[in-house]
Amino acid sequence: MWKHFNLDMFACPCCRNNLISEKLILKLDSLCDALHTPSFKIKSGYRCIYQNNVIGNQAGAYHVDGLAADIDWSEWPNALRYKLVSKAMCMGFRGIGIDGDTAHLDIRRGTQIFWVYK
Ligand SMILES: [Zn+2]
Ligand SMILES: [Zn+2]
Repeated sequence: MWKHFNLDMFACPCCRNNLISEKLILKLDSLCDALHTPSFKIKSGYRCIYQNNVIGNQAGAYHVDGLAADIDWSEWPNALRYKLVSKAMCMGFRGIGIDGDTAHLDIRRGTQIFWVYK
């Protein structure tokens, strides 16, 4: 169904429930194509409410809705990180939040927003 991902990669770690948006995975798939990378290491995809309370960050609600994924980019060179952010913006990811280890991408409705995790 997807070239670079499978559904299991996005399941909630505590209960294995999975309400991740197929539209989100499709976008991530295109992003992989654009970056010429085989896949992304998904740190967090769908989260049930319990799991989200455990992890809890400012964009957590989008994980509960199945509209967000966190990519582990801790090993990436900055040039590739830059490319991910710029391509993600063009491709209609609306929420993009980053720190040194993680890039959060979501497909919320409304205005595009970018932030750096402290
Ligand atoms: Zn869970
Ligand atoms: Zn996130």
